[in-house]
Amino acid sequence: MGQLIEHIGQSGPRSLRIRKNSVVADAINGSTWRLPHPRSQKEVELHTYLTTIILPLPMNVNDEYEWIAGDSQLRIFRSATTWEVLRPREDVKDWVDVVWFKGCIPKHAFIMWVANYDRLSTRSRLVAWVVPISPLCPLCSTYDETRDHLMLPCNYSREVWREVLHRCQPPSIMFTTWAELLSWIRSSQSKRLTLLRKLAVQTVIFHLWKQKEQFGA
Ligand SMILES: [Zn+2]
Repeated sequence: MGQLIEHIGQSGPRSLRIRKNSVVADAINGSTWRLPHPRSQKEVELHTYLTTIILPLPMNVNDEYEWIAGDSQLRIFRSATTWEVLRPREDVKDWVDVVWFKGCIPKHAFIMWVANYDRLSTRSRLVAWVVPISPLCPLCSTYDETRDHLMLPCNYSREVWREVLHRCQPPSIMFTTWAELLSWIRSSQSKRLTLLRKLAVQTVIFHLWKQKEQFGA
């Protein structure tokens, strides 16, 4: 019947002479139900239903607790299942395959994740936050240090890419934008080559960032 208060209605506690915060034991007197004579159809239905179940006396029912996580009942508490129910969820991002994958190196993947959002504290971003600093790239001192410049066409970075990429079937034309970099990773037909490209790219991005920080943040 669901919750009794829903079934009988708000007048239920008065008509059944049971307080709202009562427990089942309060409605039992010895080994019978302690309920007044029914005066409405709903109460008749309740009495009829009660005759079909065994009186839940302490000697024939063991108290049990159960964990309910989402739709499933658990015999024991499982933190993993509970976390799955509680955790905030968002749609799967279209970049997830190049940032988080089996075999990734966590510290490299982290920098890749930040870089992918263009949230690295590059000089051009610092300048936009009114930090008194030159916006020029510390590796070439020629162009403004943006993510795309620092990680891709900067002369220093190009040299690093050239050394690394010749082992992963380099692109015919060197990528100059972040989107081109990502699509090059995905353009491989072989799983092993894709994995190699992902690892190589994350490693290069991580170390270019580290190098730039050594040159002066
Ligand atoms: Zn540069």
